[in-house]
Amino acid sequence: MVLSLDELDFGPPDYKEFLPPVSKKNYGKWKYHEHIKGGVIKHVAESGDEAYTVRAAIPKYVAAETVNKLCDIAEKYCEGYIKFTSRHNVSFIVPKAKDVDSVIKDVEAMGFPVGGTDHSLKAIIQCVGWTHCHTPATDSPSITKALYEEFYDEFKDNNAFPERIKMAVSGCINMCGATHASDIAIIGMHRKVPTVIDEIVEKFCSVPNLIKSCPKYAIKPKRGNLKTVVIDEEKCMYCGICYSLCEGMPIHNPEYDGVSIWVGGKVSNTRKGPLLARLIIPFMPNEPPHWENVVKVVRKIVDIYKANAEEDERVGEWIERIGWEKFFQITDIPFSDKSIDDWIFSVETYRKGTNFKMV
Ligand code: SF4
Repeated sequence: MVLSLDELDFGPPDYKEFLPPVSKKNYGKWKYHEHIKGGVIKHVAESGDEAYTVRAAIPKYVAAETVNKLCDIAEKYCEGYIKFTSRHNVSFIVPKAKDVDSVIKDVEAMGFPVGGTDHSLKAIIQCVGWTHCHTPATDSPSITKALYEEFYDEFKDNNAFPERIKMAVSGCINMCGATHASDIAIIGMHRKVPTVIDEIVEKFCSVPNLIKSCPKYAIKPKRGNLKTVVIDEEKCMYCGICYSLCEGMPIHNPEYDGVSIWVGGKVSNTRKGPLLARLIIPFMPNEPPHWENVVKVVRKIVDIYKANAEEDERVGEWIERIGWEKFFQITDIPFSDKSIDDWIFSVETYRKGTNFKMV
């Protein structure tokens, strides 16, 4: 059968087709919800119907066999409906209160902790890191695991923090881990420009495509040999995009690659509106597999936030209230010139001048 363009070009299917029956029936008519325990939210509709969300953290990648097992739980207790969220959770909408504990038991028996609701640590977003991607400067999955091991109790506790904490880990500045909008973010950093291997570029890469790929216009044809390129080191921002196009431009450097730490981002519109995370530690060396020093810094920031923030105040809102100067003082993190935003389009956030001001 040959389908016409109209038949093929239908876009994404209507999400309402995939809603569980209780959500479909009460769509737009939910009265309130309450966080009844770690990882469980009770929803009550105007009609009197109830539904319970059970949320568990899962890795970014899971085997088909694991998905099948999760679907079996959904078949048994949730009329066959299951939801995988962008924050690497699996969510079960359980229509009957009596089934909630069975779902928790079954999903935890698979090794996935139930939690991440209300004022807890939300499931940590991560990119794939070294295992599957070619641009990362660090190993996001093992950093994520180390953070989960440290914050496991806070993931399961609805009252762990003054407000929710969202953490995210990206292997490089392309940020597949949604790090720019997270309360605490770890981002892999390359600190050396890609090495141009002329013999490979000449044989396997398209020079015009390579030049066009660079967001900073840092690549130009090599004088005397137009089949290869040179990089303007002053312009390069170490994103690794050129390496995505051409194997002859490797960017990895075991000595110079590492991680940076950013804080204060959020997506929600509540109170202060969305905030972008800001750089507080420009570089820490890669220390797989346990990342003791990264975990130590994150633990310190979280504890100080917990002790000083007001109820319902996100990390970024707390820092903006006390001021970034004070944040650097009380966390004892040395302020570095790398935190000063002097990018050409940074007028909105300009933090330099004769009267130095960071906020
Ligand atoms: Fe351009 Fe990024 Fe390659 Fe640097 S790493 S040359 S900024 S594409």
